[in-house]
Amino acid sequence: MTGMYDNPPQPPRLRNHTPESVTAAFEAWADKHRAALDAIVANVNLSDPQTVTFENVMRPQLEFENQKFSHNLRFYQHVSENSDLRETTRKMAKWYDNIWTDMNMREDVFRAREVLYHRSGLAASRKQNPARYITEDIAKNAGFEDAESAIALEEEWKEAIRLGLGLPSKPQRDRFNQIQKRVETIKSEFKNHHASDKGCNWFIPAELDGMDNDNIDQLAKGTGKNEGRLKVTFDPSHYDIFLRDVKNSEARKRMWTAMENKCPENVPLFKEAMLLRDEAARLLGYPDHATLRIESRMAKTPRAVNNLLNDLRTRLAPLATKELNQLLQAKKKDCETRNLPFDGSFYYWDWAFYASKISKQEHDLDNKKVAEYFPIDSAITGMLRLFGGLFGIVFVRLAAEDLERISPTGVSEDVMYHRDTIMLSVWNDESEGNDFLGYLYIDAHPREGKYRHVANFPLELGHQRTDGTRFYPSTAIVCNFPAPTKDKPSLLDHEHVVDLFHELGHGIHSLVSRTRFSRHHGTAGKRDFVEAPSQMLENWTWRAEYIKRISKHYLTGEQMSDDMAERIAASRHFLQALRNLRQLSSAIFDMEVHSPKSRAALENMDFTKRYNELRNELTGMKGPEAIGEPIYHRSNTYSYDMFYYAFAKDPMDKSQGHRFRHTVLEKGASQDEMLILEQFLGRKPTPDAFGMELGLVEPMEEPLLKGSSFAGRDPAIEEGTSSEEDSAIKDRPS
Ligand SMILES: [Zn+2]
Repeated sequence: MTGMYDNPPQPPRLRNHTPESVTAAFEAWADKHRAALDAIVANVNLSDPQTVTFENVMRPQLEFENQKFSHNLRFYQHVSENSDLRETTRKMAKWYDNIWTDMNMREDVFRAREVLYHRSGLAASRKQNPARYITEDIAKNAGFEDAESAIALEEEWKEAIRLGLGLPSKPQRDRFNQIQKRVETIKSEFKNHHASDKGCNWFIPAELDGMDNDNIDQLAKGTGKNEGRLKVTFDPSHYDIFLRDVKNSEARKRMWTAMENKCPENVPLFKEAMLLRDEAARLLGYPDHATLRIESRMAKTPRAVNNLLNDLRTRLAPLATKELNQLLQAKKKDCETRNLPFDGSFYYWDWAFYASKISKQEHDLDNKKVAEYFPIDSAITGMLRLFGGLFGIVFVRLAAEDLERISPTGVSEDVMYHRDTIMLSVWNDESEGNDFLGYLYIDAHPREGKYRHVANFPLELGHQRTDGTRFYPSTAIVCNFPAPTKDKPSLLDHEHVVDLFHELGHGIHSLVSRTRFSRHHGTAGKRDFVEAPSQMLENWTWRAEYIKRISKHYLTGEQMSDDMAERIAASRHFLQALRNLRQLSSAIFDMEVHSPKSRAALENMDFTKRYNELRNELTGMKGPEAIGEPIYHRSNTYSYDMFYYAFAKDPMDKSQGHRFRHTVLEKGASQDEMLILEQFLGRKPTPDAFGMELGLVEPMEEPLLKGSSFAGRDPAIEEGTSSEEDSAIKDRPS
């Protein structure tokens, strides 16, 4: 350890709470929150405009948030070993969420902010051009110290309007509130149907030909009328393997059809939710729900989203035709070899089976062999070195004696929430001035009661203190990578490495962010753009040179061969046009149901029929009409744009790395995201020239359960607002 980075100017937070201390802390925050809003109302006299200032109507809340978000208690529910602590934290977090909603609904506070919003001219400039960004100039002309302050006020105002506070109190607001309540109920009914779905299929062993014995051994054996059969559930560990490996196409068809039609009771609920959303949007004065939602997104208008979707569709179509043809040829050959009839069609249940067959031939990759080159320790070290160099950051791993030295109690365990966690202090390197940035936790392996996905949790959010100094952030990467065994360290396959880079991307976003208010810190804004920097960092894991550079065989210490690294890199875009078009059909469906031509059109829409039509049309694949299974991905378009613009020529170009850090990551959500992107690119972002390397735009609402069926999809999940604090960025179930 270099002496220069020995003594962080801010100790790590204590992580030694008990259920009692968590309860007390949440209760105290609720009181402080209420007091902050009371102060706003007390200091403002609506008939005296001089009292309606940013200092009076916004500052108390922003200061409260800065304090609140510099302690994180919620994290225990996801990672603590103590089940009482997990349960108490979960309960208190929920309790506090309700309080937060009540606070957001305070009409007295809204009225005060509304006056400032109109008087400052922000309302007028937005009315003139709903797609305008708040620039520094607009903010200064409106009398704000900076764009970040003006943005904070506009966020509050928009949120209040969305909550119905702009409606006359009766009868519209009553109806609006009634709708919100019903949508909440639908949301939980959806979840319940999904959680209680125990769908499965039974197969005789002969039908499972093609599956590994290891996988077959894990299937439950039937009794009674299912005597002699094996149970295959919808769990990905069964379902995905079944569709990939089973040779019998009738068996695959049965499995696919059952999965695609689960939770039929959710279909009428989906329609009801769509109609309610439409009604609520119209009550608020919007033509439809899409317009309401997209207004605060990067694209700003449904027209811009539709243009992008259509553009992607057109670009992907020719390549998709080629890919489908490749799949059909593989199927034809297989049918000839096995003496089976071939009807010239490619079905949805053929997809995983033939995709896997072609991939094995083309890429010849054995995941287990690849994983031998990525023992977790050297993969993490290699990754931190790579991005440290690019962005001018130094990561210092803290040993027990370091933690003892910097822990406020002198006890190392008190600053760790679990003993298996790796903890690092993070600093600017010399070129950036050597100052402290914050703390990074890496929690790699599964354990009882731990969060089961791959995610980044921003723990404490940075902000500028009233005396101008900085409060430094902490952030945690939580994964569930294979645990080490007696004779092997934890070995990561390539997909794990991609996940690790992605989550580190979120972590770095948090660590280098410098905003005044914690609500805008790093990834806390949680909007469209949040995924783009992380997706951009994934690009390094798909370049043979860097795959090789971070590889190190766990026994021999050798780097992987060029050939293996190149085969991994080549597998990236395998069948990507078809994959993207499948997602695109869900996105187009999403837009159609949220922006109907008229109320009557929505009432008469056959959702199931339309969903199937779109999917068949875009992919060229076939299958009986089913409830469906859309899987969403967040926007990849911006990440490719940034990567190609700045790093395609030289992925280790430090000047671009530093520029990316300061122009994009540092800003968090303190500026309009589109403006940040334009400043980095020097032009408007476009999907030009990226051919097949395109994802798709953000779905209107992220489904509650990724990969769940259309009917299992949550129609009512609300996006996080900037004031919500539990901001895990969940990426993928493990
Ligand atoms: Zn992510």
